[in-house]
Amino acid sequence: MSKIQSIRGMNDLLPGDAAVWQYLEGKVTQLFASYGYQNIRFPVLEQTELFKRSIGEVTDIVEKEMYTFADRNGDSLTLRPEGTAVCVRACEQHGLLYNQTQKLWYMGPMFRHERPQKGRLRQFHQFGVEAFGFDGPDIDAEILVLTARLWQSLGLSDAVTLELNSIGSLESRANYKQALVEHLSGVQDQLDEDSQRRLGTNPLRILDSKNRNTQALLKDAPQLADYLDEESRSHFEGLCALLDGMGIRYTVNPRLVRGLDYYNKTVFEWVTTHLGAQGTVCAGGRYDGLVAQLGGRSTSAVGFGMGVERLVLLLQELDLVPRGLDTSADVYLVAAGDVQLPALQLAEQIRSHYPQLRLISHCGGGGIRSQMKKADKTGAQLALILGENEASNQQVTVKPLRGGAEQETIAQSDLLERLGALLNKEIAE
Ligand code: ATP
Ligand code: MG
Repeated sequence: MSKIQSIRGMNDLLPGDAAVWQYLEGKVTQLFASYGYQNIRFPVLEQTELFKRSIGEVTDIVEKEMYTFADRNGDSLTLRPEGTAVCVRACEQHGLLYNQTQKLWYMGPMFRHERPQKGRLRQFHQFGVEAFGFDGPDIDAEILVLTARLWQSLGLSDAVTLELNSIGSLESRANYKQALVEHLSGVQDQLDEDSQRRLGTNPLRILDSKNRNTQALLKDAPQLADYLDEESRSHFEGLCALLDGMGIRYTVNPRLVRGLDYYNKTVFEWVTTHLGAQGTVCAGGRYDGLVAQLGGRSTSAVGFGMGVERLVLLLQELDLVPRGLDTSADVYLVAAGDVQLPALQLAEQIRSHYPQLRLISHCGGGGIRSQMKKADKTGAQLALILGENEASNQQVTVKPLRGGAEQETIAQSDLLERLGALLNKEIAE
């Protein structure tokens, strides 16, 4: 019988990689907490309508990337392709935006039916931040400062750059769209196929076409910057001044538009040149119209999504993963002979005293030699050996596995103190 395989583009994470994820998650959760952002969790499955109404009917995501299917009762459901719309839905549903501001973060899987390749999956993961109820550019600056701090703490500061743009109000964008369409209609037959189609549906997306010819045609096209409304312009200037003051470097990229309909004013991407074509590791912007669009009271909002897989790839590519993350134990308890109960008891006693200590207690019997091999493989610093003799004399043998120190047999009553001295790190606090 053929074995069942995972779905293409939906990866398993085996323990070695999972350790890197845990490292990253640890950094990120600590960071969000240090800025006072609160964690929010929501389902992976939502009504299809939510994404159609927020992301936009004629975006790549809604047109061709969503996992949409009919529930048993015929409702159209979609596996979430992103978190922002769901976050807004959850906040509205539970009154989180009523007369109050919110700074929130989430993480979890997102689903898009794209062509799987390096840095592009069908189930991928995002860390996301959303802030609601803040009008000024200070919040835009804060989330960018926060991301810059993350790069710093991961050693990535030199590997990513910030691209920034303002796409203005919905109204100014509509005016610009009109001008752009007028201009490009004149050269329509020279545009690439995708862009020809987008001319009628989502013309702004033509701006980030990768096609050389189209890019060349865009050179003389009207510039979004010339159509910005006064408020968007001063918001953007305010943001740039704050970033300058904070020493955050950025490039203004007038072609940056983002692929989702709900953005306005600030949009940004953190990009790297180390991951080939999938170079955007974090992307976001303001979406002041979305809450109202989904039926709530008009609420200003800004946020970003960060691709976890791409970040992990980047850390690995640049050799920035700290050593020893996949070490699973500090201490390995070898249980040789008929000592199952005393071994369990001793292990529990140690764990009660040192909750931070990672102790693997050997299960499954076998001789000392094979157990010692296993102990070594875990990366543990020490092996504790409990044979029948030791057990009946209330003793235990302590054998350092690294650094060549001698093994010693001591009374079990002295063990906790001895461990504290041998493992002189935070485990023995
Ligand atoms: P891209 O231009 O790479 O398709 P996007 O504009 O569709 O990205 P967003 O919807 O803004 O991306 O998502 C934010 C981040 O999530 C991206 O910058 C990227 O890091 C990550 N991401 C998006 N799609 C995928 C995917 N299919 N696989 C892995 N990561 C992804
Ligand atoms: Mg995409």
